[in-house]
Amino acid sequence: MAIQIQSSSTWVKALLTTGTVSGIAIDATDLTQKAVARHGFKEDKAIQSFGESVLGALLLASHCKKGEHINLNIRSSGVVFQAVIDAYPDGSVRGYVVPRESSTPYSIGENTGPWGDGLLSVLRTKDISQERPYIGTVPLVTGKLAKDLTFYWAQSEQVPTALGIVVNVHEGKVHGAHAFMVQALPGASDKDLKWIEDQVFHISNQLEPKQALAHLFQNATFSFLETKNLSFKCHCTLGRVERALALVGEVELNSMIENQNGAEVKCDFCSENYIVGKEKLQELIKNSRRHEP
Ligand SMILES: [Zn+2]
Repeated sequence: MAIQIQSSSTWVKALLTTGTVSGIAIDATDLTQKAVARHGFKEDKAIQSFGESVLGALLLASHCKKGEHINLNIRSSGVVFQAVIDAYPDGSVRGYVVPRESSTPYSIGENTGPWGDGLLSVLRTKDISQERPYIGTVPLVTGKLAKDLTFYWAQSEQVPTALGIVVNVHEGKVHGAHAFMVQALPGASDKDLKWIEDQVFHISNQLEPKQALAHLFQNATFSFLETKNLSFKCHCTLGRVERALALVGEVELNSMIENQNGAEVKCDFCSENYIVGKEKLQELIKNSRRHEP
């Protein structure tokens, strides 16, 4: 049973009429709130990190070609241990953060943002072809996701970029989840590059996407290219869960049958719970024996 949750959130893309600078603005407030409710995340700092990584992944996916998707994986010394988000160019996203146990305190340097130290990896995969996926990894330098993603674009993709991410959370509720990104395209002039650099200090995020882009491109002529609705979507199914269980081995499966009368498996990406009965587990064991040499 694949999970799909629609939202009123959107991204809007725009292009300078010179064709040398592209822009995107996202309001993912509703999407983030619905995903948080789905997962049952409670802690404000974890919710904020989740929202930031959802926005970061959507910004990255907005540059994918059709049939590609990205996986953003952040390992952090900060308020969450890890964030894993899949995002698609159709505006769908799934994923989770692993909050740090309250017993293991996090370590963040004095001038470092909430992500602390760590590694940010982006895996760009083609859905069908056998082509090798592209992987780019950069260290977390500032601990602020927007800045570290700007560094990623410069370092790993060699695209001059300015981007901003702002997520406001209070008492478990997402009050705002906004992001924008402007990028130089081939043929960009030095003036364009200087302008992009200046936008880093020009973050005004609490606007709906079209207003945010109009605000960003205020002194230039530009056109809106695309408005897309964003959704939370996972493609896990009972069949996939059973195939994964088939790989855990006979001993483990037997212990599930004896101790739990079956298996209960939760999908990390969407928190869907799957119950696999004892008869099915016995069948998996039988099949695995058949495949042994
Ligand atoms: Zn799932």
